[in-house]
Amino acid sequence: MRFDAVPVPPSVGARPRDARGYPVPAITPWDGDTPQFALTDYERSADCARGRRCSVCGELMPRGPVWRVVGASESAAIAEALAAGRPYRNLAPTLEGPGHRACMLYASMVCPYLARPGARRGLDARTPDAMTEHVVRGAARGASGAVVGFADYEFAITATRVLFRFLDVVEFSPHAESDAHLDELRAELAGRTADMRPAQDGR
Ligand SMILES: [Zn+2]
Repeated sequence: MRFDAVPVPPSVGARPRDARGYPVPAITPWDGDTPQFALTDYERSADCARGRRCSVCGELMPRGPVWRVVGASESAAIAEALAAGRPYRNLAPTLEGPGHRACMLYASMVCPYLARPGARRGLDARTPDAMTEHVVRGAARGASGAVVGFADYEFAITATRVLFRFLDVVEFSPHAESDAHLDELRAELAGRTADMRPAQDGR
């Protein structure tokens, strides 16, 4: 769907934008004035991991669950584990860091590089051709992925990579359509707005 038809979480709205108006995620490297959406910046990702900050908006994630967008095969594996009553863990570490629920719901519908099904699945995030292929495929995707909440995560910062592992699924929202999470995002943002009202009144 058109990215400007999706309500923007305030913290994402505060991000810099590219020339088309797309918010640029916190872990995206820049080449001069041009964000490199297909890539994950090592230093930015490490900073987010160390500071428990959201990979989309870059703001602190409170203690408790974290979210990420997963592709089709991981979504299927999680669905299978849940149906069998087994705990799910992604045994292979991923380069994709966690984020806020609202940010990941937003990213699943808007950001072709975060929402892209199956992309960033392996550890080779510096493969733009593969990324482009996933984006094209994503435009016509079916039951292609999910927004998943995890009770916790762990990370490792190596000399060249920042790797994440996610533990214990607490929410599983598969998406078949690109706007599948629109109502959830609206509700999430409405809840946050309600929570923040006293502070806004106090300004
Ligand atoms: Zn965020």
